[in-house]
Amino acid sequence: MFALFDNHPVLRDALPFVHLGHYPTPVLLADDLDKDRRSAGITIKNDGATGTPYGGNKVRKLEFLLGDTLARGKNAVLTFGGAGSNHALATAIYARRLGLTPYSCLIKQPNSHSVRYNLLRALQAGVHLQHFESIPALATGAILKEIRLLFTDQKLPYWIPPGGTSALGVLGYVNAAFELQTQIDAGKLAAPDVIYIACGTMGSSVGLALGLALLGSQTRVCAVAVTDTNFSSMKKAKKLYAQSGELLRKAGADTPVTRLREDSFELRSDFFGGEYGCYTEAGMQAVNRFQEATGLQIEGCYTGKCLAALSQDLKSGRLDGQQVLFWNTYDGQSQDHPVDELDYRLLPESLHTYFESEVQPLDRK
Ligand SMILES: *Cc1c(COP(=O)(O)O)cnc(C)c1O
Repeated sequence: MFALFDNHPVLRDALPFVHLGHYPTPVLLADDLDKDRRSAGITIKNDGATGTPYGGNKVRKLEFLLGDTLARGKNAVLTFGGAGSNHALATAIYARRLGLTPYSCLIKQPNSHSVRYNLLRALQAGVHLQHFESIPALATGAILKEIRLLFTDQKLPYWIPPGGTSALGVLGYVNAAFELQTQIDAGKLAAPDVIYIACGTMGSSVGLALGLALLGSQTRVCAVAVTDTNFSSMKKAKKLYAQSGELLRKAGADTPVTRLREDSFELRSDFFGGEYGCYTEAGMQAVNRFQEATGLQIEGCYTGKCLAALSQDLKSGRLDGQQVLFWNTYDGQSQDHPVDELDYRLLPESLHTYFESEVQPLDRK
């Protein structure tokens, strides 16, 4: 099933797409996350289960982006992210599955077990890795030149922006909103008043907001930012939303022009913690609470911060009587994939520091 195409069949042939995931992802009731029973109910939409061997939110975007890569006859993909980027890893794993060569440009970030794990998995997937000190460095011509040099003898790779967030990638989450609606219609859950979702490059939260608007839904999106304003801002959200809406209409969908409304999309920056990838006390407490209440694993970089915002809003009474949905964007299960046998020294030397220096204090067990 692919709910967006079922609702707008014209898009099936008009948009580039390659099937990678398993849908619909499960919804679970999780009232134990609300011990005092102040909300009307809490549900989890578990996008940890979008795919195997690797799930999480990036699979939905990659179906369009890697579909476009194939449609354009490219044989390699280049993408960007933090050193422990889930997005870069997901891209590499699914690119390989499709016979494409993956390249990742990684940027320094605070160290964690998850960074180490993702680097080893990237090694296993055979990604060509480049590591840079900072984002400004990445933006300079010198580094772009260095990237180009990698491809002198070949066709340039298909370029996937950080987080897989482009007008096209966002459609993965427009589909996710349509998919949720089919589950509501089938009686699997009550229509939520508000959806909490972690927000890095905004593709997932903006895609949901667009999908919900096209469905005429009253559900609000609370996007909990884990990045600074270079990556997450209302300005950027509005632009992406408009571009993706236009892309759908250009592809032939009879969808109305809508605007991102501030009363239906809230960008929260109070749980960010000041730096991408830097764990927070509130976030780590939320990670533990989630595991106790659901048996599922979340993490400190994205989903813990999102759940921390939800928990505070429960406490403050903001969610009294509301149906709440927590959209899990992280595949905790696939983190059990074995990497222990791998030697980090096979990684480019500038990445060894993640294995030879301590993880950040809140990540020490
Ligand atoms: C990338 C990622 C996000 C952020 O999604 P965006 O679409 O970039 O906002 C959230 N959670 C997890 C686990 C991620 O890996």
